[in-house]
Amino acid sequence: MAEGSLSELCTICHINLPKYTCPRCSTRTCSLPCSKRHKLWSQCSGVRDPAAYLKRKELATPAAFDKDFNFITGIERRLERADRDAEHRGIVLDDDGRKRKKRRSGEFAQEEALLKRIERSGVEMLRAPKGMTRSRQNHSTWSKKQSCLNWSVEWIFPDKQKMIAKYPENNTIGFAFATTAYAKLHKLVEKRKQKPLQEGMLSSFRTPWRKK
Ligand SMILES: [Zn+2]
Ligand SMILES: [Zn+2]
Repeated sequence: MAEGSLSELCTICHINLPKYTCPRCSTRTCSLPCSKRHKLWSQCSGVRDPAAYLKRKELATPAAFDKDFNFITGIERRLERADRDAEHRGIVLDDDGRKRKKRRSGEFAQEEALLKRIERSGVEMLRAPKGMTRSRQNHSTWSKKQSCLNWSVEWIFPDKQKMIAKYPENNTIGFAFATTAYAKLHKLVEKRKQKPLQEGMLSSFRTPWRKK
């Protein structure tokens, strides 16, 4: 038996000093049989969890970069393998793949047009990362037909109710507000030409508006 206290020994056999560390849970074992037993007993996959939490200071280390690099190249390898496998088995990805590509490039072109128009209109824009809630809620578009920007506007009412709707850029804020269901329900605006909105009413107006 190796010297040392019990806590320093292989966590499975408690006989030998540990040599290996489980990439997933950091359990220390002395040999392949012990590491296999650990995986079985602890129902541990023994595979490093690429999404495991790292402290900020552990993030920008060569070891962390290595792990991320291996994870990403691992995905690439698996994709390539899947492609080759499909080819071998005579699965034709062509038609579908082409269609999907076409649609994606259409979306891309639309977004490009929107960004260009926003820049040209002098609006300063801060974009939320794609896929985040704020980004998904924003349906602002450039309408080729109407030749104008249509802004997604989020209204936050005094009673904390929220509403998101889309308005053409040539609407005034007052008119846009008058057309909201909330305004109609509470009869806040009766006619199109109503006195301007009180200051602070739209204090949380989030969508960037045209700069004056
Ligand atoms: Zn052992
Ligand atoms: Zn483990």
